[in-house]
Amino acid sequence: MNIAVVGAGISGLAAARTLAQRGLKPVVLESGSGPGGRCTTQQIGPYKFDSGATSIAPRGRSLEKAMLEELSQEGLRQVERPIWSMAFGRVSPGDAAKMAISRYVYEQGIVQLPKLLAQGLDVRYGVKVETLAKEESGYLVNGEPFDAVVLSAPLPENAELLAMVGEGWRIGGVRYRSCLSVLLGYEAAFDAPYHALIDPEQRNPVIWVSAESVKTTGRAPEGHSSFVVQMGSRFSTEHFQDSDYEISREAKIMMGRLFGKAFEDPAAMQVRRWLHSQPEISTSFENANRNATSLILAGDALAGPRVELAYEVGVRAAEYLLQK
Ligand SMILES: Cc1cc2nc3c(=O)[nH]c(=O)nc-3n(C[C@H](O)[C@H](O)[C@H](O)COP(=O)(O)OP(=O)(O)OC[C@H]3O[C@@H](n4cnc5c(N)ncnc54)[C@H](O)[C@@H]3O)c2cc1C
Repeated sequence: MNIAVVGAGISGLAAARTLAQRGLKPVVLESGSGPGGRCTTQQIGPYKFDSGATSIAPRGRSLEKAMLEELSQEGLRQVERPIWSMAFGRVSPGDAAKMAISRYVYEQGIVQLPKLLAQGLDVRYGVKVETLAKEESGYLVNGEPFDAVVLSAPLPENAELLAMVGEGWRIGGVRYRSCLSVLLGYEAAFDAPYHALIDPEQRNPVIWVSAESVKTTGRAPEGHSSFVVQMGSRFSTEHFQDSDYEISREAKIMMGRLFGKAFEDPAAMQVRRWLHSQPEISTSFENANRNATSLILAGDALAGPRVELAYEVGVRAAEYLLQK
């Protein structure tokens, strides 16, 4: 069976890897220049940032076995320090017990996971799938014939492709939120008993601060520090088109308030805009694929906004095709 997997994010790679493990040779088509999608790492000067997912908590799901047993564990680190709270701008341990699950990162950057998953697969980068057509015995993907297709991009990004084949997918209720991530590097050392801060109310402009250089080593030179500041859903939606300067202002104010004057002026700054950041309303694999034949939907919209769930959905999509 000749299968196209659209998207080399965690879900698409999980699907392709599962198919390859059963002796098939899927082709992964990815519009970007590398694997990972929202599981990605960015370098700005001497600073390194996980600008989408900031850590992976496999919670006993199938990704755990893949990460801890099957794939190379070089650079794989358990995040030792917990997540604390920044309720009303005040830092405290918060509900530490609730946050006490095993989280992992890679010293090379979180993008190491998709890089490992992509090893040995036929992944074609820089190929955006723009046309999908139904044939008697399969599908034409950008004009190339395949027996089956797995679509793994965020569902709103698949909508046009799905409309081209006019199938009755039950995905109407799925909704993604947007997120602006502000990447900040400082010529100032930083240490703390936590690796990240969360706003438990999720109402302020800044809802998450990941101290990248505390989380793991290799994220900033000696005496420097790096942070990813995530803006809340409302702020991100309202300011999505603003300039980097405007967007980063709130983040910089918060950094100064939390950590003092040395953190008001970063040496490096970049804004990463995630239009479809995480599904706030998801559906189930069964629901989305209830009429499926050989065009299967995957991706985190069918499970929830987590790397390990995206992986699981990819495996499910592959198993579904294999059963057929
Ligand atoms: C800011 C942010 C913070 C997050 N924090 C965490 C966290 O700490 N922990 C956690 O577990 N999860 C987190 N997540 C969620 C997690 O990153 C996602 O749930 C997961 O990575 C989704 O994987 P996916 O494969 O479903 O989709 P994606 O990663 O979006 O992959 C889809 C791929 O399809 C490609 N594509 C799209 N359209 C086409 C096309 N037409 N043709 C070819 N290719 C196409 C895209 O380029 C992309 O590579 C976060 C996400 C964001 C954005």
